Amino acid sequence: MSNKPNAPVKKNDIVEVTIEDLTHEGAGVAKIDGYALFIPKALPGEKVKVKVLKVNKGYGFGKVMETIEQSNDRVEPICPIYDQCGGCQLQHLSYEAQLSQKQKQVKDVLERIGKLTDVKVHPTIGMDNPWRYRNKAQVPVADREGGLVAGFYQQRSHEIINMDECFIQHEENDEVVQTVKTICEQYGVRGYNEQTHRGTLRHVVARYGLMTGETMVVLITRTAELPHKDEIIEQIKAKLPKVKSIVQNINSKKTNVIFGDKTVVLWGETYIYDFIGDIKFAISARSFYQVNPEQTKVLYDKALEYANLSGHETVIDAYCGIGTISLFLAQKAKHVYGVEIVPQAIDDAKRNAKLNHIENADFAVGEAENVIPWWHAQGIRADIIVVDPPRKGCDEKLLQTIIQMKPKRVVYVSCNPATLARDLRILEDGGYVTKEVQPVDMFPHTNHIENVAVLELKM
Ligand code: SAH
Repeated sequence: MSNKPNAPVKKNDIVEVTIEDLTHEGAGVAKIDGYALFIPKALPGEKVKVKVLKVNKGYGFGKVMETIEQSNDRVEPICPIYDQCGGCQLQHLSYEAQLSQKQKQVKDVLERIGKLTDVKVHPTIGMDNPWRYRNKAQVPVADREGGLVAGFYQQRSHEIINMDECFIQHEENDEVVQTVKTICEQYGVRGYNEQTHRGTLRHVVARYGLMTGETMVVLITRTAELPHKDEIIEQIKAKLPKVKSIVQNINSKKTNVIFGDKTVVLWGETYIYDFIGDIKFAISARSFYQVNPEQTKVLYDKALEYANLSGHETVIDAYCGIGTISLFLAQKAKHVYGVEIVPQAIDDAKRNAKLNHIENADFAVGEAENVIPWWHAQGIRADIIVVDPPRKGCDEKLLQTIIQMKPKRVVYVSCNPATLARDLRILEDGGYVTKEVQPVDMFPHTNHIENVAVLELKM
């Protein structure tokens, strides 16, 4: 039996409601006799007249017809294509309010899912300038009336809308995409057509090293052949002096996966470089690398502070990716072991360790939930375990291994508050106490929330 209330409204009704909350997706929530109505773009505190569009059991959807009272936190989105694009969800909310909203959402979800009522959740650490922060652009390309369009897929469609600039993208990347598009147009390169599987250029990818200014261009093509390749390379070099690397990736498959298997350096370096703090990272066309390096430093500094290392500790970094956190921790620990499922990421991690002359870090390919118990069986004892899992959170087997291994502290870096809350509950039931949680805004104007939490073993 469901205890969800039956709908007190029906489709096409016009009702006046007050918005009480914001969902994780950024929609306003109003309650009518306990029945939740989700209303895109409406903000908490606003009084609105809405048209009911869809009625489910337990909840429905509506659309604002008229705003009767506007929230003081409402601002004009600076992006002219904000509504069509869908890449950002919170541009209509002031940045200050976004930060407090994110803190509130973390508190709420820890309480609701984790039953953690008295954990200290700090105010979200935001950016001084929350624009132009992304260091990577991946832009789909198509043909349009004799030219090319490069932009984004319109929401819920496969139509590519042209975009001249993106306000959360670094200016350099915008310039690279526009310039490469113009050059390719000049030489008659055809954009890829999803329906017919014809045309050449599928995506332009631009990567930028924030601290070095080095730029990489990746042309993703359907065919190995790129007409006027040499002229295109010369033009890119002439017009974009920060470009250190021009790469072609070939994706001949009928798929919406962006990259194909074959990558060729057309000109320049295989890698560009960037720094997070003192650690240098080599970034190839395919390397995973955090997209907001400025806030990544803030997040990892916090993880390091929570790990509270004295130099004698053995640390395990589960879900280590290219070793970003491992190398950060290695500067202060006796030894770090990193584990990650993607072999290429571990190759990058090892390369980055060498690049920084870090010798007290070892990396292994495999599933954290299988490799860590094996390490344990080999006699490796961890003082601190750091986890940074994907959105689905930690594997239950890994959490049980942590509980058995009894490290004195667990530092949990999370990109999904819901799975963080679930996993903290499991660790709490296994003998840990959550000390504090710090939200860090890695993706301003979007609904993403990143957190770092620290747990201690109960004595
Ligand atoms: N800490 C890294 C990456 C975190 S993203 C950084 O900040 O750069 C999460 C990582 O977990 C991804 O690299 C993904 O490939 C990896 N992963 C996913 N499932 C895994 C598993 N079962 N075991 C180990 N790694 C896994």
